Amino acid sequence: TAARTPLIAGNWKMHKTVEEAEAFIQALLPRVATFDSVDVGICPPFTSLQAMVDSARGSIVRVYAQNMHYADQGAFTGEVSAPMLSELDVHGVILGHSERREYFGETDKALALKVPKALEAGLEPILCVGETEEERERGDTERKLRHQIQEDLAKVPEDRLADVVIAYEPIWAIGTGLTATPEQAQEACAFVRALVGQRSEDAAQRVRVLYGGSMKADNAAELLALPDVDGGLVGGASLEAEPFSTIVGAAS
Ligand code: PEP
Repeated sequence: TAARTPLIAGNWKMHKTVEEAEAFIQALLPRVATFDSVDVGICPPFTSLQAMVDSARGSIVRVYAQNMHYADQGAFTGEVSAPMLSELDVHGVILGHSERREYFGETDKALALKVPKALEAGLEPILCVGETEEERERGDTERKLRHQIQEDLAKVPEDRLADVVIAYEPIWAIGTGLTATPEQAQEACAFVRALVGQRSEDAAQRVRVLYGGSMKADNAAELLALPDVDGGLVGGASLEAEPFSTIVGAAS
């Protein structure tokens, strides 16, 4: 994985006011200042994006949104577009998180429009894919991953595939305290990479595949050492500068 810079991204979900976000970033910056060869991302709610971009400027911390619409503008009450995010100097955007798919009706059809739109706007998409517990038990994990990757990346041109970050997040491991075993994480992340390889072998070698699902300070090193795991998408453990900075350290 030497050629792929690891990325540790913290998904705050619907947590933190601007004041709380400021306190977090001031605690995080000195803790990650000496790390190199790792990219650090924080994914705050929309309301804290501007403040976090300003506070993180000049550091290794990059700021990502948690969702966006596929249209540039229009009658879509409550939504935010790619140009609106790039205007703020936001670095990227999480797309297709399982909570958006489950609670807000996010579809693969919408994601097929969102992923290329993010790239066109200069945003780095973090596309989330993963199976439910029931799908894993049925033996449908690979079928689910193949379906999501094929649909969601269908309109991404070959020469941009490597610019997408793909987060493999088994739904049964998100916020549950259950972590995929290293064998499960490696197998699924290698499978995701192989799916990209069906479109472009070069992109498969360059694309970053993250693991997400109850990553914590005490299991991060083992997961991040896996050959096809290029980083982590971290929920609960990203809400405080410590343990988040310990997880970043495990990747650097
Ligand atoms: C997530 O929501 O992307 C996630 C991985 O959450 P947690 O780390 O809390 O399981």
